[in-house]
Amino acid sequence: MAQTFLPASDHQPRLKGYLDRLGTAVPASLLLEGGREPERRALALYWAARLNCLQAEAPCRHCPTCQQIAEEIFRDLIVLDGRQESIRIDPVRTMRRELASRPEYGGTRVILIHEAQSLTQEAANALLKSLEEPPPGNAFVLTAPQRQWILPTLVSRSWVLTLNWHADTAEEAPELEQWVERLLAFWVRSQGLFEHTGRKGSLDRLTVEAVIARCQRELLAAMTQSAQPEAKMASLFRERIAPATFPVLDQTLHKAQEALQHNVNPALVLDWLALQFWRATRRGPE
Ligand SMILES: [Zn+2]
Repeated sequence: MAQTFLPASDHQPRLKGYLDRLGTAVPASLLLEGGREPERRALALYWAARLNCLQAEAPCRHCPTCQQIAEEIFRDLIVLDGRQESIRIDPVRTMRRELASRPEYGGTRVILIHEAQSLTQEAANALLKSLEEPPPGNAFVLTAPQRQWILPTLVSRSWVLTLNWHADTAEEAPELEQWVERLLAFWVRSQGLFEHTGRKGSLDRLTVEAVIARCQRELLAAMTQSAQPEAKMASLFRERIAPATFPVLDQTLHKAQEALQHNVNPALVLDWLALQFWRATRRGPE
């Protein structure tokens, strides 16, 4: 049997259908939010193949173009990767210069900004200029856990597709549940957190991002009263925090996210976030 590339998008068949249809009217910028990080990346690459595979039913997932895109070595694919570090202004500038030339293979050059929440403010502003007037033959695709994590002006210029959310983000951050339990314990009993965050190398950026995403989701559930009974964090927020404080805590989570973008130590970010929420719980629900 022939080898198949880009298989991971099979997990999101609904989105794949959208992308197949969108291929006939390509938006200048597509934002993929939700799902898990590897799924967002797989779908972004699927989109690049959709726009560049020359077979009748693109993407065929078998041809050299599809293979090169899956391996991220295709000449008309530019990837700025924010998984580990911030995406700074220099690579964005370099990318913008490349846009002036026509795509090598006559298809659509795809610029993937993977995990766009990692763009520094300066880099995001530079990117914005390209999104406003993309030179012909270029299409952007941005990925992010949630659209709220990136500059609103980037979102408003993008066609947003939301991948299915997963209640369980264990694949992305295997230690997430453990940290959630520690946070809950800290908010209730004022102890049980710092001895863990203080351990050297105990936390990486992806884990803290996952914790922030969980807090955002549960805070939203607490605000809208839509929490499932098993959503422990949302219940705690509702029992112990004044509703008027919810928007402040939402900002706290954004600031924590921003700190990660500026490469602040993830353990420090989690400590700070935990303390802000702890204070809010001490002020009580009224
Ligand atoms: Zn193909």
